[in-house]
Amino acid sequence: MADAGTEILTDGFHLIIDALKLNDITTIYNVPGIPITDLGRYMQAEGMRVLSFRHEQNAGYAAAIAGFLTKKPGVCMTVSAPGFLNGLTALAHATTNCFPMILISGSSEREIVDLQQGDYEEMDQLAIAKPLCKAAYRVLCAEDIGIGIARAIRSAVSGRPGGVYLDLPAKLIGQTMDADAGEKSLVKVIDAAPRQLPSPESVARALDVIKSAERPLIILGKGAAYAQADDEIRAFVEKSGMPYLPMSMAKGLLPDTHSQSAGPARSLVLKEADVVVMIGARLNWLLSHGKGKSWGDKPKKFVQIDIEPKEIDSNVQIVAPLVGDIGSCVSALLKSMGDKWPTPPTDWTEAVSSKKEANVKRMAPKLQNNNIPMDYHGALGVLRTIVKERPDIILVNEGANTLDIARSVIDMYKPRKRLDVGTWGVMGIGMGQAIGAAVETGCPVLAIEGDSAFGFSGMEVETICRYNLPICIVVFNNGGIYRGSDVNPTGGLDVAPTVFVKDARYDKMMEAFGGVGVNAISPDTLARAVNEALDSGKPTLVNAVIDEKAGTESGRIGNLNPQSVISKK
Ligand code: ADP
Ligand code: MG
Repeated sequence: MADAGTEILTDGFHLIIDALKLNDITTIYNVPGIPITDLGRYMQAEGMRVLSFRHEQNAGYAAAIAGFLTKKPGVCMTVSAPGFLNGLTALAHATTNCFPMILISGSSEREIVDLQQGDYEEMDQLAIAKPLCKAAYRVLCAEDIGIGIARAIRSAVSGRPGGVYLDLPAKLIGQTMDADAGEKSLVKVIDAAPRQLPSPESVARALDVIKSAERPLIILGKGAAYAQADDEIRAFVEKSGMPYLPMSMAKGLLPDTHSQSAGPARSLVLKEADVVVMIGARLNWLLSHGKGKSWGDKPKKFVQIDIEPKEIDSNVQIVAPLVGDIGSCVSALLKSMGDKWPTPPTDWTEAVSSKKEANVKRMAPKLQNNNIPMDYHGALGVLRTIVKERPDIILVNEGANTLDIARSVIDMYKPRKRLDVGTWGVMGIGMGQAIGAAVETGCPVLAIEGDSAFGFSGMEVETICRYNLPICIVVFNNGGIYRGSDVNPTGGLDVAPTVFVKDARYDKMMEAFGGVGVNAISPDTLARAVNEALDSGKPTLVNAVIDEKAGTESGRIGNLNPQSVISKK
């Protein structure tokens, strides 16, 4: 605040900070530069936590996962045009995944941008952001900063959560106004995400359908994990007696070892179920759109709980929609179920259990193999044990084979402990999510990364060392994308497009910044290195040497690759 004659002034910098703090937003993920460098400095000076990244996309992924973990919008702050565009991928990702996030970008002079007169980093950022997020706003006057930030927060967290863009032109940030009037202009958001109760008819209809089922199934999605209605969801699953299938980021909502988990019998339950209760999961590509081969040919009835009315009937008919927040919907179901709710027919639950046991038994020896070089199962087998012994750690996971196999092999025991590529199956979330998770929860993080996936955000190992975060990265180094063994069919000098440098030592990257690097060629060395990292809390990168021929094309989604019928002569 400055004293201009008799008037006490405030400015854009301080109004932005005061508005965020008033709404309990105290952590910012950013990359400094024009015009937000000083804003970051003042934020830190005013007691906010300001974490600087090496690339905006990673700062954005950190903010997005902060939103998922806390139900408050994670905030990413960037410079104009190129920085904004770098952050935009993460904003679109947050929107697609239904995570609350706010991307705040500085922008250049409106007068020049709109006349396209060639300003520094000229870009109409608001127009570009709009189709990629849930809402987008620009603030032009200092007295609107309070309401602008309030709108951004409410838009991000209410209803279906998502990404919000907030455009703050350089000129606004430096604008001054009377300090008293400034303080009065701030807005505290009351009840940012109000409960949304389902209609009583929809509850009764859903229970009628569930009661009629012979082979019922529950599918829990990451919306259920986000909702933080863990006790209600567990009570509902257990009271209903139905087998349940967790989507990847819903793993651990109930422990994967729960007797009703149908994870290891996934193919069977999708094919055979006659009633499917979706809780915070969408019938998108990850569930084959609710139809086709993987759903079998028996007729299905879908019940769906979602906060977004437009999600209902997105792919197939939903016979019993429950529109509302998951906590309220599940509580309403529980209440109406009363004390004596019939359990599903035992021939169904027993069929699921025996399929599950058979699959678990078949997998067990694979996970204990000691092959050198390691294969995916040998390496993941030891990490699986570590997660079992340390259920509080947060697992971040990306890659192709590294993702697909880890998802099915590693059991999770607590809610919101598994973070991964989400709805898009995007590569590059790794270090951003690891940092966001460590910062927001204080828990140790284990990031299991394919070597290609890690490359998208690998420079953030410096960020991890700078803030001394308890993150252990394991790079599954098979020397390439899918496999490291492809060859250039022409015999030319360039390696095949999917191949990386042989015998690369990713562990040295961590050592370069003062962290711990380990080269692990056996499951034993891998286990020892990861345990030491998690005990010490020191930033660590383990280069896990994986057989270059171990992976399959595109992991488990190779069917999405178009195939040429004429090129293979
Ligand atoms: P998954 O990929 O795990 O199946 P999705 O991201 O596809 O999960 O689905 C999450 C769904 O959860 C979205 O349709 C979203 O609208 C919904 N959702 C998110 N938060 C809530 C909430 N608090 N209450 C109800 N539904 C929610
Ligand atoms: Mg690889």
